[in-house]
Amino acid sequence: MKTRAEKIKQAIKETREKRKKQVCKVYQLKLQNLTDKDIERFNRLFLEAKWFYNYVIADLPNRLKYETYKLKEVEIKTPEGFERRELTIISSQMKQGILERTRDNLKALKSAKGNGSKVGKLNFKSEVNSIPLKQYGNTYEIFRGSNKVKIQGFKKKFRILGLHQIPENAEFANAYFVRKPSGFYIHVTCYLPKEQVINEIKEKQIDEPIGVDLGVKDQLTLSNGEKIRWQVPETKRLKRLQQSLARKKKGSKNYWKTLMKIRKEYEYITNKKRDFQNKAVALLKRFKFIAIQDDSIKGWQEGLFGKQVQNSGIGGITARLRNLATLIPEMVKFVPRFEPTTQTCSKCGHRQKISLSQRVFKCEKCGLEIDRDINSALVILKLGLGAGKENPAV
Ligand SMILES: [Zn+2]
Repeated sequence: MKTRAEKIKQAIKETREKRKKQVCKVYQLKLQNLTDKDIERFNRLFLEAKWFYNYVIADLPNRLKYETYKLKEVEIKTPEGFERRELTIISSQMKQGILERTRDNLKALKSAKGNGSKVGKLNFKSEVNSIPLKQYGNTYEIFRGSNKVKIQGFKKKFRILGLHQIPENAEFANAYFVRKPSGFYIHVTCYLPKEQVINEIKEKQIDEPIGVDLGVKDQLTLSNGEKIRWQVPETKRLKRLQQSLARKKKGSKNYWKTLMKIRKEYEYITNKKRDFQNKAVALLKRFKFIAIQDDSIKGWQEGLFGKQVQNSGIGGITARLRNLATLIPEMVKFVPRFEPTTQTCSKCGHRQKISLSQRVFKCEKCGLEIDRDINSALVILKLGLGAGKENPAV
């Protein structure tokens, strides 16, 4: 007979083996048709999550313990002194989730400190906007037939939007219940068979390699001449709202109103960026081989183009291509950042200076005349393919 501990150990081992053959993906599902009462109860839940979190943070050595999840009320500090707050909606597992996340954050802080970076401690929060939902089937459950989700602590099932993105055979794992200015969401992590994901990518591919130049002006230039201009400007509305906020009395009703509007605007911009990244990555994935310059943005971020680069969210693209490279290593090749790709002729390899204002590369040696970004993308492609030949394992 196996003991309980042995059984758990065995189960963990089996899951680990299974996960090796899977990839994980996060999907965002929006809760729909919410009544005022639903929203009120959700807000209460997030409020309780905040009370619980701040209670733990106030005395970490004594409160960051497994048993803390059993508490049905907590003491919080108010300007009038300590007051007791009842936890009526938040479930035990949600509390456990918050404790675990706090533990993980502490660990991350400690290891960051070890790396020599300056970091503070965990702070009290004025809002908690995400609650871990640990075990599928327990803290939450998805009903595909009716497009609904059940959340622990709520009798009613809620309609969700976005389920169609998730393949039928996806395995639901942990999730987060998330509050945003635009509404309430479930961010669910799903596991999919690796083989299936790889095959889906490969089925749509054309047998052609592509080089990618991450520029400033046209943003994304491909070696085949395609350009994706995709800057998300910091909207005028946001600037206006920020100016207006500065004039409002902190803590006043109008101050909060404006702050909410600003948050909504930020969410809108973030969504726009993500849309662009999705589109760009989907486009690139169609090619059998992608060559791109490694971290080419890092240098810019500190320099002249920082703002534009941040706005376009290019970092998101390289990060996602890095993920793709772990899934299908032969598909993505990162070319070293220090390669002077803009100064190199894509036809003959001659190097010459080219100023930022020169949009056309005119080779002094072979006479090639070509758009500077397309030239750079072609050089990156050549480098990517060449490096691949030297080291067949790559
Ligand atoms: Zn040339």
